[in-house]
Amino acid sequence: MTITDALPLISPTLASWLNDVSRGKFSTPDIATSGEIAYPVLDPGTGRTLANVPISNSDHVARAVRKARAAMDDGRWSEQDPDYREAALLRLAALVERDFDTLVTLEAVDTGKPRAEAALDIHEVTLVLRYYAGWCTKVTGSTIAAPRQFAAQTIREAVGVCVAITPWNYPLPILMYKLAPALAFGNSIVAKPSELAPLSSIYFLELCSEAGIPDGVVSLVLGPGEVGADLVSQPGIDKISFTGSTTTGKAIMRAAAEHPTKVTLELGGKSPHIVFASADLDAAVAGVAAGIWTNAGQVCVAGSRLLVEESVKEIFIQKLVAFTDEYHVGHALDDRSMMGPMISARQLEKAQATITEAQKSGARITTAGTVHSEVGTFLAPTIIDGLDGSHAAHQEEIFGPVLTVDSFGSEDEAATRANSTPFGLAAGVWTDAAGQSTRMARKLNAGTVWVNTYGVFHPTLPFGGTKASGFGRELGESAVEAYTQTKTIVEDIAGRGGE
Ligand code: NAD
Repeated sequence: MTITDALPLISPTLASWLNDVSRGKFSTPDIATSGEIAYPVLDPGTGRTLANVPISNSDHVARAVRKARAAMDDGRWSEQDPDYREAALLRLAALVERDFDTLVTLEAVDTGKPRAEAALDIHEVTLVLRYYAGWCTKVTGSTIAAPRQFAAQTIREAVGVCVAITPWNYPLPILMYKLAPALAFGNSIVAKPSELAPLSSIYFLELCSEAGIPDGVVSLVLGPGEVGADLVSQPGIDKISFTGSTTTGKAIMRAAAEHPTKVTLELGGKSPHIVFASADLDAAVAGVAAGIWTNAGQVCVAGSRLLVEESVKEIFIQKLVAFTDEYHVGHALDDRSMMGPMISARQLEKAQATITEAQKSGARITTAGTVHSEVGTFLAPTIIDGLDGSHAAHQEEIFGPVLTVDSFGSEDEAATRANSTPFGLAAGVWTDAAGQSTRMARKLNAGTVWVNTYGVFHPTLPFGGTKASGFGRELGESAVEAYTQTKTIVEDIAGRGGE
């Protein structure tokens, strides 16, 4: 079967592009691979091959880093005027908008998420590009009140060659959180997308070339974790920005220690979603459902632990199950789908094993919604209730459409339970009691707390974790710190001129 036959729902143009990817034919030399060894990338909603994606070998990885270094050294990007870089990032945003439908379809079939969700992702890509385009001309240094003998100032310069390693759940938005600020401040960047969903990143690289970003400034290497391990151990890199699992984050930190390299880590989570009796329960139900069923729960900030005040627990669960029963779980390109499949058989098996184990431990398991597919790696929305808070289902990231339920009797108990996992990425609080939201937000150990809403991302809002969820912040003004370094310039101005 040809790739085109396998994709009746994809346009001939996109099918032809996928065939080019399988032949290792790209419109930019900055996709560093020769196409000799390839592996199949699947549509998780059907299990069919979308493309055979070529793998980068060690030479490709080293060459991409050398090209990025050469681009830094000769200033083809880093020493351009800020408004030159601004214009290029704006052109890039316009190209993403021009190819919006193609990118949405590609992201949807590659990750399995419904097309409507993928559309939000690609829209976010344009927002992030435009936001950091604006930053190109806004970054400033300072003058310092050093002793009067000296004129002292700081300027902000590019960090240098940045490496971006990204996961499969939000491939293009997460790449953009790194690439847009890196480029805005004059860095070069070598990126490695997840092997499970690399297609939108490949497409985007071709757009970078079309937007006039000079050769070597942005490169892509392709393949599994070993390619990422090779990339982060290269001597010529100045910064690693990683988003992915806590286990891989630890390995990257160890590798970074070899050639002391700056690292930011955006890792896993087990975010509590806390509902007080005073809350608008219907709004909270919709928020909790979106917080865990979006992207089939494969979201770093998934509100995967529901903590609900004892007095409203039963009614809240009933409402949540009724709300979720409306979910049409199906293929990404079926416009009725509200939730898609899990990314792979491996992830599905992992989630199923946790559910089985929870059941053995005496949990009450409720499934809701309807799966409309005979094939693909689908799991119906699943609610696990009745386990002790220390059970693995409450403590470990499942990364699937699986919600655990626990209850509390007081604010302090809610905060203690919420903070009881190794993670600290995000938290949600639903309450209408005056002052309670702020008191709770202060007590919660999380990088982001959403109150009476959940999962709000915007280029202006810094994002990142605490504890095992990582460190460093992306988005907003935080990226200035992440992708520039301060240089202090001191001049002795005493005496000599006036004599
Ligand atoms: P993963 O850690 O398996 O892989 C992430 C990336 O790292 C992939 O590109 C992979 O190929 C690469 N990689 C694997 N081993 C490597 C190594 N030794 N050295 C260098 N690179 C290596 O994660 P995943 O399964 O793709 O993504 C899911 C995880 O990502 C979840 O834990 C989720 O919570 C987390 N995540 C976090 C955020 C956040 O912002 N905090 C966002 C999205 C996903």
